[in-house]
Parts: sequence; structure tokens; C-alpha cells
Amino acid sequence: MYVQKNIMPDSSSQLPSLLRQIFGYETFRPLQREIMDAALAGRDAVAILPTGAGKSLCYQLPALVRDGLTLVVSPLIALMKDQVDQMQAAGVAATFLNSTLSDAELRRRTAGLVAGEFKLLYVAPERLMAGDFLRQLRAWNVTALAVDEAHCISEWGHDFRPEYRRLAEVRDEFPQLPVLALTATATPRVRQDIVEQLKLRDAEIFIASFNRPNLAYRVIPKDKAVRQVWEFAHERSGESGIIYCQSRRSTEAMAAALREEGLAAVAYHAGLEPEERSRNQEAFLRDEARIVCATVAFGMGINKPNVRYVIHADLPKNLEGYYQETGRAGRDGLPADCLLLFSRGDMMKQLKFLDEISNEQEREIARSQLDHMVEYAEDTGCRRGSLLGYFGEKWPGDNCGGCDNCLNPQETYDATLEAQKVLSCIFRIQQKNGFNVGLQHVADVLGGGNTEKVRRWGHASLTTYGVGRERPRTEWVALGRQLVRLGLAKISQDGFSTVSLSADGLNALKLRTTVMVVRPTAKSGGMDASSATAVARAGDIPCDEKLFEALRVLRKELADAREVPPYVIFSDISLRHMARSYPQESEQFVAVPGVGLKKLEDFGAAFMGVITEWLSAHPRQTFAPLASAASPVRKMRAESALTGTALETLHRWREGRDVDDIAKLRDLTTGTIESHIALAVQAGEQIDERSFYSEGEEGEMRAALADHAELSLKPIFEKLGGHVSYGKLRLFQAFEERRKMAVPQD
Ligand code: ADP
Ligand code: ZN
Repeated sequence: MYVQKNIMPDSSSQLPSLLRQIFGYETFRPLQREIMDAALAGRDAVAILPTGAGKSLCYQLPALVRDGLTLVVSPLIALMKDQVDQMQAAGVAATFLNSTLSDAELRRRTAGLVAGEFKLLYVAPERLMAGDFLRQLRAWNVTALAVDEAHCISEWGHDFRPEYRRLAEVRDEFPQLPVLALTATATPRVRQDIVEQLKLRDAEIFIASFNRPNLAYRVIPKDKAVRQVWEFAHERSGESGIIYCQSRRSTEAMAAALREEGLAAVAYHAGLEPEERSRNQEAFLRDEARIVCATVAFGMGINKPNVRYVIHADLPKNLEGYYQETGRAGRDGLPADCLLLFSRGDMMKQLKFLDEISNEQEREIARSQLDHMVEYAEDTGCRRGSLLGYFGEKWPGDNCGGCDNCLNPQETYDATLEAQKVLSCIFRIQQKNGFNVGLQHVADVLGGGNTEKVRRWGHASLTTYGVGRERPRTEWVALGRQLVRLGLAKISQDGFSTVSLSADGLNALKLRTTVMVVRPTAKSGGMDASSATAVARAGDIPCDEKLFEALRVLRKELADAREVPPYVIFSDISLRHMARSYPQESEQFVAVPGVGLKKLEDFGAAFMGVITEWLSAHPRQTFAPLASAASPVRKMRAESALTGTALETLHRWREGRDVDDIAKLRDLTTGTIESHIALAVQAGEQIDERSFYSEGEEGEMRAALADHAELSLKPIFEKLGGHVSYGKLRLFQAFEERRKMAVPQD
């Protein structure tokens, strides 16, 4: 293996102090440290982390402790400039080379590179391959290569760029160079492509949880989209938001309609003149236009951290795209909202488009993707769980506290009879034909429909034909989906989305097991845009809002003077911390997250000045402490984060209330309260185990759970004769897990 001679053996141990001094952060985010250690050990690595997880830092910080120059390949010119601006504001010697620079400037920077003045150099892949650039690199002492947005190398990804393919030539030219590839795209196919195309050697692959705890997901029935969007945006008129629309025309219409109602909105799509496009984008980045109405062409390379909401005014084509687009909200970790306006009409429109795809296989894939999208929109369970499940990740809790369905749980009812009808219909069809069919057809048979397929397959002769006439067809489809979620039926993954019975389903059919399902509300989601605002705010940093506004004004002035976007000066997170701790001296100011030494020097006086002046005219407010983000367990667990509702429970617990009391107070079940506390335990909160069970019970549970590998606690519950509640079991598991994770403090 290649080990760099010129890095100091303890270079990795310098990382925490540099993190503090340069970037102003106290702790690493999940996987950051591990990725940096691999990179500094000279290994190839792939970092697959969701948007906002802090990928950039993974190559920026090692670049500072390493000798020589770190070369960063980045796909977009705008993105490059943005990153370099941010680096420079933090006092890091970073630069970029691209076609926007004058010859004189290019010569100046090249001379600087030869003289070893820079630690980081950003380039686009085109430049890397042009002329004798690779040869030039030899004179610049390049010691590491980082490939940002590495999914661009894959045709299977959503942003394929042929130029990325040639990056392997860099590897041939500099076989010794360790490579770090970074992306937010999770699919295994793309991951594999990255490793192969970049010719990575024995690469270490880091994959974080794709959960975005600070994003709240919700779906409302679409009905006069412009009005709904306006209502939502109007309530957040000081905040930045992206509104995705299907067509170029509708982005412009939406932006015009919002402008007419007094909101600063611009349009963005690939059909605009380049000048107008970049003007609109710039206005958005600089917090001048608060809203951008865009097609999916807008997004990649938009580094803006303080996008507070993303609305999809039309149904996206697939969940992968939906996840990426909503992912542009809340990069800074503060709460943000993702709203989807859904109508079956939109789905029908898209189905029509699909019919025009001539390749049958492509059509079926697109169809199946659309099915998944609709399934998400009509889901009555946790949306976070549904989204993560699509990427093969299990959501560990039962209530995420950050989606409409978890916050407004729907009523369940006994649907055993109806479930029997659906299950038996699926069973009969399979028995008769020897193959499976889609849910839509099952609903047709139940409803006694006379469709072409019913006639072709002779399904009118089935005993289940027409036994479901009393309910609308859509309800049968919805019920079928619930049965799939309950594990009683399965949808095939072959692109045809046919439905079949699982072993459990077959049993349920034979034994007439009770089946409880969620009662359908008037329309899917069952809430309007305004009640949606009640969603919990995970990641929130309560602060003096008026002071925050004043600090924002100062930030904008400083940013304009330097011709950079406001977030280059400070993130909203930093400003919110300032507006709750009121720092008036350097030692306090530098303790604000995101304040490093250089920013203290450049901006400290100005911000502290505003704060001092503020306090001379306004009372100082006090705030409850934030959930400890720095606990050792929290650092190790990619998925743990206390959501708003769990936090609320924790506060009540800290007030000295017990579980029953909190349940009553919050109008939730004791099971829910116990699962909140279990989450808090996992997040590293100090809670006394003895408040929940005796030592004797603990021993019993430990013995019963000893070699229990399944997710379901039911067998354990039964093994213990039902006298230890599920809540206790869950709590015990949380404490056990924490015991296992506990590491000696360093
Ligand atoms: P990504 O590229 O993964 O989308 P970024 O690199 O843009 O994410 O980082 C998102 C935000 O998180 C930035 O504002 C960054 O400064 C911040 N950040 C990164 N690492 C940390 C950390 N260890 N502690 C606090 N904030 C961090
Ligand atoms: Zn949820």
C-alpha cells in the first residue's frame, strides 16, 4: 500500500484542533473522522453521505495537514467559486482554475501553484484533460485527489458527465495519488461504477444513513396549486424556498403568480437565456429572490445551505429524484419542510407520457418507478420510513416525529373481512392463471369491472369477482397497499409490480387473522397546507428572532461588499447561536459554531458591535439548552438524532414527570412516550435505567434477548409471559445498545 512519506505520522491527531480553529466546529459529524483518517493513511476511499452531511470537510481538512496540494475535481464552475469563497473566508489558501478567468489572472494563479502557495485547487474535469494540464500538475506537488459529485461518472446516475470518465487517466498518470470520491447518490449500481471507473484500489467505502432528521415530509391533496404554494410560502416569506414544477412554462407561470402576490420569486429552467438563468440563480443565492420556481434542471451544485422549504407542485417521476430534490432543503441542519402536492390527475398525466416510451422495458421501469412515487404519496405510514425503505435502509423507530402521518396518526379499524376479500382474490387469480397481476387489476376483479383483462383471463368466473362492489375501486387499491406494508402481500421488483401473497398472507387467509388497517381520510394526507405547519422542528435552534434578523442584515451588507453570497460570511446556524448566547467578547464569540479564528478576526467586531448595541435597548432572553449534539454516542451513530416530539418528551421527563403523566399531558400512548425516551437514551442523554424496570426484570430481559436477531419483539414479549411491556423491552434495548457503543473517552 502507498504510504505518503511526507505526512507527519500524527497528522491525523491535528484534525480536531484544526476543525476548531479554522472551521469553528467542536465535533465531527458521523463518518467525517473515519473518512479523513482513511484519506490521510493514503487509502482510496468512497464517501457516500447525504446532502448536508458535510462531505466537503472530508477533503478540505486533510488537505490542511498534508504536505503539498490537494486537487479537487468539481463539475460546476459556480460550485467551485462558491467553495473557494467559503474556504478563503475561513482563511484557507484555496483557489480554482476555469474558463471564466482572464489570462493575467490565470498566469498569476499558476505562478502561485508553482510556488506552493495553495493547499487546495478546484478544477472542472474538462480542464484537467485539456492540453498539457496533467503534465503541468507534476510541477505543483499534488499529493491527493478528491472527486466531488462522483456519481457524475456513472451513466446510471442522474447527472452523467462524459468528461468524468476520463478521470481514470489521472490515476494512470499519477498512480501514487490517493483518491477520495464523494457523492450523495446511494444506489449500489452507481457506487460500483465509481469504484470501477476511477480504478480505485482496495477502496474503503463509507456509507452514512440517508435519513435527514431536520427535514419534515408531508403530502397534501393538490387543489389549486398556485394558491396552496402561495399560502405555504407566504407564511415563510423571509425564508428561501425552491418550488419544483413539471414544465418550463409552469415554472414561469408560478413565479409570475407569486410575484403578483408580493413574493420575490424567479424562474429557472434550461430554456432560459444563459444570462437570465445565472442572474436568477445568483439572486436566489444572495437572498434577494427568496423563491425559485424551477424544473429539475435546477439543483446540482446549489450549495445554498439555508433553503428552508422545497415544494413539489407536480408529481415527481420517481422517488430517487424526489429524495435528491427535497434534499436541497436544510443543508445547514436547521429545520426545513418538504411538501408534495399530490393528485391522481397528475399521476394519470404521467401515465400518458409513459405510454409514449417505445422501449417496453424502459416503459415498465418508468411505470414501476411512478408506482413507487404514488405509493409514497398515498402512504398512510411514516413517510421517512417509506423513503428510506426505498433505498434499502430501515427506519428504526416507529414514529419519526417529522412527517405528517407520524404527527397526525390516523385511526385504525378492523378490516379483517375486507382483507380476506383482497387476499383471497390475489390467491384465486394466481391459482387460476399461474401468474400474478397488478393491484389495479385485483381491484377491478373485486369491483366486478368489465375490463379487457377481466374478459381475456376469464376473471368474471372467480368466486371473488364483484364481492367488493360496495366500495370504490381506489379504496381496494389503497387497502392492497396497506396489506403490502403489513407484510401480508408482496409487490414484485421486476418492473411489473405484480402482487402475490407472502407466507404470512397465506396464513392470515387460512386462519382469518384479525387485520387492523388505517382508516382512509377524505383525501390522501388529510390535511391542508396551513395545518401542516404544526410539524415538529427537529434541529431547531431557538433564539432571539429579532436579533437574528438584525444579524442577518449585517451579514447581507458584509456579503454584498465582498460580492459573495451571505452564507460565505456565516451560516444561519452561526447567527442563531449568536442570537441566543449574545457573545460580546472574543472568547465567547469564537465558541459560536462556525466561527474560526479568521472569521473572528474579520467579522467578530462587527457582529459583537450589533449585539452590544442590541442589548442596550432590549432585554436579554434565555433559552433552554439544546440537545447535546456532542455526546460520544451521538457521534458514532449516523442515524440518531432527537426529533422535535421526542425532545418535547425529554423536556417533560427532565421536569420530573413519569411516563404515564407525560402520556396524559401530551395525549399520546405510553408506548410512544417510552419510544421517545428510548431515542433519547440512544442519543446519549443521561437517563436512569432504574426508573423503568428493576434489576430482576433487567436480568430476565437480557436472558430472553440473548440470541434474538429479529426486529420484532413479539416472540420475546411472549417468552416473558407478557408481563414485561413492549415499552420496557424497547427501553432495555436502547440501554443495552448504549452500553455496547460506549467507548472510553479520549
Ligand atoms: P455536503 O457536501 O455533504 O452536502 P457540506 O459540505 O456542504 O455538505 O456541509 C453542509 C454544512 O454542514 C456546511 O454548512 C458545513 O459547514 C457544515 N458542517 C460540516 N461539517 C460540520 C461539523 N463537523 N460540524 C458542524 N457543521 C459542519
Ligand atoms: Zn414519520
